[in-house]
Amino acid sequence: QRNITRMPVWIRQNLGKETHYQDTSRSVHENALHTVCEEARCPNRGECWSRGTATFMLLGDTCTRACGFCAVKTGKPEWFDKDEPARVARAVAELKLSYIVLTSVNRDDLPDGGAGIFAETLKLLRLQNAQIGVEFLTPDFRNCQQAAIELMQQTLTALPDGVRRDLVWGHNVETVPRLYREARKGSKYERSLDMLALAAKLSGVESKSALMLGLGETREEVLEVLQDLRKQGVNRVSLGQYLRPSLQHLPVQEYIHPDEFAAYEVAAREMGFGWVKAGPMVRSSYFAEEEQLATLG
Ligand code: SF4
Ligand code: SF4
Repeated sequence: QRNITRMPVWIRQNLGKETHYQDTSRSVHENALHTVCEEARCPNRGECWSRGTATFMLLGDTCTRACGFCAVKTGKPEWFDKDEPARVARAVAELKLSYIVLTSVNRDDLPDGGAGIFAETLKLLRLQNAQIGVEFLTPDFRNCQQAAIELMQQTLTALPDGVRRDLVWGHNVETVPRLYREARKGSKYERSLDMLALAAKLSGVESKSALMLGLGETREEVLEVLQDLRKQGVNRVSLGQYLRPSLQHLPVQEYIHPDEFAAYEVAAREMGFGWVKAGPMVRSSYFAEEEQLATLG
């Protein structure tokens, strides 16, 4: 393991960039919503929001799991609001967004893991704008994977004629299986693969996953994960650099050079992924709207 004392220049340049997201974020706050773009202080937010893309966080700000790399608060969530889907739809209309990523904390406390809120939000967004691009970035729905799958299939099927019935369904494996015990407490690599395999089989759904590099994984391990994802039918993948949110979080073991990211991108395309993004500042929702469902026709 290398000793990391300084951020390389390709990270620092990006973090210092000026963004102009304040104006556009007013509607998010007025509707009592949260976006990953802001909460995670994502360095891409000025760029994404001006392109009409944002990532909304559903189901509150408290997660029932505690990943070692994640800045989201852990605990027993109390928050549940059945009107949240309507507020998301309102904000999306006000902001004139054309591609929405919906994500959430893990809600192992809810019988449906929060799947009902995802489904309702999808429905309202499509009824409001028949052509809006929607992407999920969901938990693994630990005890209710099958139920979550069936609910989304019913929701898509029930949409009226002329309304888009497709969806990108992402679930991030985040890191290689060897590091799960340390980095991804409460999660299991195999369960994540199961979730992705189920999503990939749904009609109209393209499945997607993401990895954060720099936690101590080897190149061989990353390539194995990419192969595993392809075996489950995953068509989209993103690879980005892990940045430590605070000193309480796992340290960065390595800053991956942009050339190495480029090599991963080539490898992933050779494996057959139809959509690949790899680079130090890539986040799973970065340029999510690009090449929308290119493989589904
Ligand atoms: Fe938001 Fe994702 Fe863009 Fe970051 S990359 S600003 S989280 S949509
Ligand atoms: Fe963060 Fe997701 Fe892990 Fe919860 S499950 S701690 S939100 S990465």
